[in-house]
Amino acid sequence: MNSQSTMRFFHTKGADFRAIFISMAPSINEAAQKISLHPYLTFHFGENVVSAMLVAGLHRQAFGEVFHLNTKKYFDPMIVESRSIGIWRASAKALPALAEIQEMSDIHEDLATAFLHVTRFDKSGKILAKGSIQSQGTSIPDLYAWYLLQSEQVHTHLQVSLRLKDSAGGIEVDKAYGLLIEALPGVGENKKFILSDNLSRIKNLCEYFESGEKDNLDLLDDIFPGEQWIQSDEVKVRYECGCSAEYYTSKISALPAEQIEELMNGADQTVECGFCDQKYIIRYEDLKH
Ligand SMILES: [Zn+2]
Repeated sequence: MNSQSTMRFFHTKGADFRAIFISMAPSINEAAQKISLHPYLTFHFGENVVSAMLVAGLHRQAFGEVFHLNTKKYFDPMIVESRSIGIWRASAKALPALAEIQEMSDIHEDLATAFLHVTRFDKSGKILAKGSIQSQGTSIPDLYAWYLLQSEQVHTHLQVSLRLKDSAGGIEVDKAYGLLIEALPGVGENKKFILSDNLSRIKNLCEYFESGEKDNLDLLDDIFPGEQWIQSDEVKVRYECGCSAEYYTSKISALPAEQIEELMNGADQTVECGFCDQKYIIRYEDLKH
């Protein structure tokens, strides 16, 4: 496996299944550094980003998607905004209780209180779909799979595997893999059973790729022997905030006139990007009003 961050798209020859595979440790580390991520959040932040990118990959016809995840105790919120071309940005706000956690498993327990809010939008920012879901367990990837089942009635297998390592700056992500497999409508129950049975044997993608002898297609062949998987696309996954003064000017301009007045108070104002903390001065006269 190479060290670049990539998202690859596959489907079976008979078009019964489609799959998305992600490998994105370098991109997650880059983001963690940029947003000064709380080290205790590294694992869950990584899981959340990979899960969000898998779902965004499934919705490639949309321009982008925002995933907003919050729990009662430790983070409120973690946000991932992903674009279908593989660019993403994220933020993670730690709550004070995070400083007192004893073990990472405390965070898992807190995930039982999690809410996930998803908004899909087109190029002009128009909302295409919106949904919210409450956690049914203590796993972030399961929450995303649950969201897909509830919102689209499609059975999706979503597997995310992360490994951390110590680094000079503290903790960083060593490996981050994600796999999403979707059975397309009309696929028989027996085929679905084989798939989930074989998948349950591959518990950990980091271990699966450890020897370096297996690649994505080996993985898909092991999950569904006898199917011919075809790679249809590959995109580079890149962390990039993408904010600018123009971006915020156009966003504010799109608000109703009263809201613009309330926000600007008739003068130039400073706005701070919620993702990267960059500050911009928005000129009142540049706004359409
Ligand atoms: Zn920014």
